[in-house]
Formats: sequence, structure tokens, C-alpha cells
Amino acid sequence: MTKAIGYAAQHSYSRLKPISFERDDPKANEVEIEVLFCGVCHSDIHQVKNEWSNTVYPCMPGHEIVGRVTRAGTGVSRHAVGDLVGVGCMIDSCRECEPCHAHEENYCEGPNSWLATYNGPMVPAKMSPDGSNMYGRDNTYGGYSSSVVVPEDFVLKIPASLKPEVAAPILCAGVTTYSPMTHWGVKAGDKVGIVGFGGLGDMAAKIAKAMGAEVTLFTTTAEKLDEAQRLGVTVVLQSDKKTMTSLANSFDFMLSTIPEKHDVNPFVQMLKRDCTLAVVGAIEPLASENNQERVMHRKSVAGSLIGSIAETQAVLDLCAEHGIGPDIQVIPIQEINKAYKHVEKGEVRFRYVIDMASLKQDEEAA
Ligand code: ZN
Ligand code: ZN
Repeated sequence: MTKAIGYAAQHSYSRLKPISFERDDPKANEVEIEVLFCGVCHSDIHQVKNEWSNTVYPCMPGHEIVGRVTRAGTGVSRHAVGDLVGVGCMIDSCRECEPCHAHEENYCEGPNSWLATYNGPMVPAKMSPDGSNMYGRDNTYGGYSSSVVVPEDFVLKIPASLKPEVAAPILCAGVTTYSPMTHWGVKAGDKVGIVGFGGLGDMAAKIAKAMGAEVTLFTTTAEKLDEAQRLGVTVVLQSDKKTMTSLANSFDFMLSTIPEKHDVNPFVQMLKRDCTLAVVGAIEPLASENNQERVMHRKSVAGSLIGSIAETQAVLDLCAEHGIGPDIQVIPIQEINKAYKHVEKGEVRFRYVIDMASLKQDEEAA
């Protein structure tokens, strides 16, 4: 065991505060990582506030982790001490089901699905031979902390040309938008529509552009128009009904990144025949039940959940190759509660990334 420190919420209504805890020593197949940066994801806030009714407290979020390998188990071959590495939303899966064999761990059908980087498992995903929970406690603790210990095959390599703080949000926001675009075969010349211009929408637009697509961004916020235009994509204000109507049946693929209940029908209307709108931001019921547009032109509304480990590596490499990444604002962890408020109000289009060096202050105080 090693001493660790991190920021956790004790209840759904409480602020994140520093707590001390212990991390297990790395097992044969695991690496220990000193966390350098951790991105702030909208789902961290949902989880902290128990908005999905499955939060175990204390809840220590963080699944956009970039850090340096500090120790490696005896069986580790993919990473070495000193390597710059990343950890996204998953740190393990059942490794036995059909999706796991197909390298789609993010759709693991094992008894407890994949093991979330934080707040997982509700029940142990795997028992060690002595019958104890392999992960040492009731729920996993994420990257708002000084260190993490993760099986090596769930650890990504951070390309040298990516700044570590920029790489962090690619591990969730990046792969969440990249995975559906590769799954539904977005290719050069395709017309791709991105709905919503927050952290996910920003990444989605950049990745679609890097794939050679012709990108249109849809936003409800007039103040974001200039920023979106700077990305070199077409921007449409959703209140501009005339333009919205003129885009009927014109997109090869659309991606909705809105993180809450919303009406997808205006966007379904914009799909070409046989094409798909993938919803990645919302897991709640969608506002529109209208099936007419779908049946008229054999269109689909689909969902997609983060991405596989292979896709996560691929999107890191794609971002490095094209010199793209999320717009970020680096904050000390002491500002995390304030940052949450800004994200909740939908005020930020960039991604907050926590500089974990700031944890030292709390370590000294502890
Ligand atoms: Zn996330
Ligand atoms: Zn599985």
C-alpha cells in the first residue's frame, strides 16, 4: 500500500474536499501512475451528485488521467517506469465475453460490465483467489488524486507531440466522439453535423475535420458563434429556422453531444436516407418520439458509449498526427468546486484540466 491523497465528495450535496487514502501496490500486470493532469468531465458532476442513482461515497472522480509510470508489476511489458501514459473511463473488463474478445471492452457484457475508473464496481468485478475485492474497497477512486494503479492493457501511450494536459480530455471527450465516427464510417468528403458546442462538440468538430469531413456545428448559444467559426467549420444557430429547414436530408452522419434530454427530431430530418444520428451526450429519454422522419427515409437514431482501448489509442495518435486537441483551461484542484458550477451552467466550451501538482498544498496541510 502507498499513501495517496485526492479530492472526493462525501455526499450528493457536498463539495469535493481532500481525503487521504491508500492505493494498492501494483500487481504483476499493473502499473502505478503518478497523476500529472486530470480532465474534468460533465459526467464527473453527474456522478458526484448521484444523478444516475448509483454513486458510492466517498466519490473521487476523474477519468481523463495523464501521468507518469512510477512502478511496474513484474509481468508488465507494454509500459516502463518513466513513460508518459493515459487512463480513460475504464480500468478493466471481464475479458471473457464476446465484446471483450472483439476488443470492444466498452460494451463488455460480463456480470458487472467494464470496471469504471471511479465509482466502480458496485460489487467486485473480480475476486482475488482469497475472495477479497481485487480493488481493495467498495468503489474505485479516480484521477482527482496523486496516483492510480491500473492493469497495463488499460493504459494508453501518450504520443510525444501531445502536451500531457491537452491529451487528458482526449481520453474521454475525444474517444467518445471518435468511436461513433469510425463505427459509422465517416470518411473524407462526408457531411457531418455536430449538435452542441461544449467540450464534446469541440472535440467532435476537430476530429471530424481531421477525418476530412465537411463539418457543420449546431449551437443554441449566439456567443459561441465566433469561437466555432475559428475552427473553420460551418456554424448554425438552432434558432435560425430557415437555415435549419434548408438542411433537410443533407448529412451523412450526425452526432449529438447535448448532455441532457433534448429533441433530436430536427436533426433526424437533416440526415440523408439510411444515415444515422448517434447520441453520445445524453442517457435519459429523448424528447421526441416522432418516428415519421425515420420511417420515411430509413434513418436511424443510435447511441454510443465512450470507445474501446484500441480506439482510445487511435484517437490519441490521430490528434498527435493532426496537431489537434481540446481547448483547455488548466486549474489547481482547489478550484474544482467553482469549475463544476461553470460547467453546470453550460458556460464553458473548453475543458477544465486539473494540474495535480496543486495537490501538494493539501498534502502538506494533511
Ligand atoms: Zn467523461
Ligand atoms: Zn467483457
